[in-house]
Amino acid sequence: MIVAVDGPTASGKGTIAKALAAHYGLPHLDTGLLYRAVGRQVVLDGGNPDDPDDAAKACAFPESLLEDPILRSEETGGLASRVSVHPRVRAALLERQRAFAAQPGGAVLDGRDIGTVIAPDAEVKLFVIASVEARAQRRYLEMRKRGEDTTLAAIEADLAARDERDRNRAQAPLKPAEDAILIDTSDLDREQAIAFAISETDRKIASA
Ligand code: C5P
Repeated sequence: MIVAVDGPTASGKGTIAKALAAHYGLPHLDTGLLYRAVGRQVVLDGGNPDDPDDAAKACAFPESLLEDPILRSEETGGLASRVSVHPRVRAALLERQRAFAAQPGGAVLDGRDIGTVIAPDAEVKLFVIASVEARAQRRYLEMRKRGEDTTLAAIEADLAARDERDRNRAQAPLKPAEDAILIDTSDLDREQAIAFAISETDRKIASA
């Protein structure tokens, strides 16, 4: 079974994808991490994330980079969003994601274009959303916990800019697949969001 979990930054899609993978005993791929690695590698190479050649070159990042905690930072998230607009970057990462999805037994992948581009035949497609306010509040608490200095207003502005870029890019824009199940986590806590995602997945499997 392939489960595609898409949605904007801080919607809760990563938490939901990890919980579904554990619940159904499937491997999980956080595809955002691949774009984050490309964004980080551009900086390490002294390149410009907005330059298609620099970004394409950075797709040859070493595997060890995926373990670097700096990939989780807000700054790297912003770089990822910039390199992800380049068609050559998306093409370079496509096969790796498709191969992960196609492994025997299936997989859970989360990202922006899993249900639309990477695994359009996924048995279950979830599209996780939440209000900008709810997402900013979560990100704010996460960052404070990590000791990062920030304000709610700065996070809201950053999320809005990233949403705008992800939704309006020409290649694989962030949008729900036609057969995706929408999950709004604005008013749900972690456990409620996970329980709801599992019940929707079970319902989808039962109706297939
Ligand atoms: O999900 P995460 O915040 O780690 O993703 C970072 C950035 O990578 C996103 O803002 C998006 O631009 C890009 N991305 C993408 N397609 C994916 C996953 C992430 O374009 N499947």
